[in-house]
Amino acid sequence: MGTYHKALICKNGHIITDTIDTQPEKYEKYCSKCGAETIKKCEHCGAFIRGDYEIPGFVTIGFPPELPKYCHNCGKPYPWTEKSIEAAKELLMELDSGYGEDFLNKTVEDLISDDPETKVAIVRIKKMLAKASPEIGKLLKDILVGVVSEGVRKMIWGA
Ligand SMILES: [Zn+2]
Ligand SMILES: [Zn+2]
Repeated sequence: MGTYHKALICKNGHIITDTIDTQPEKYEKYCSKCGAETIKKCEHCGAFIRGDYEIPGFVTIGFPPELPKYCHNCGKPYPWTEKSIEAAKELLMELDSGYGEDFLNKTVEDLISDDPETKVAIVRIKKMLAKASPEIGKLLKDILVGVVSEGVRKMIWGA
């Protein structure tokens, strides 16, 4: 059975390293890309953020590390996921769609969570974007590109 290494990630979602336990020399207190504080534990439950998965005897072939969105232990969104949800919601509120804040929040969460409700959220977002300028659509893409799945991205933005 394999084990997870521990990851060190900045609060904006830059992965500093996905093997901080075996490569402590890579530690950064603040992200060298954006200056945000770094964390290696969930701020809600204290569980370590999972990094690289290693199976003894197998050579790890440098897969690009994937940014986790939610804590595997308590299910709460990590700070970067929370920030994306918040920013996307605020942008959507500018559109005057008539939807309330809580509703927009749920819509964005559904987009990220990859479950049956994600499809409903996609339809809703597409409707909202159809009435908005292309710039708004582009901004929303920039905000969400790191946290939505490739499938969702393609269904909304086509690429
Ligand atoms: Zn950063
Ligand atoms: Zn947690």
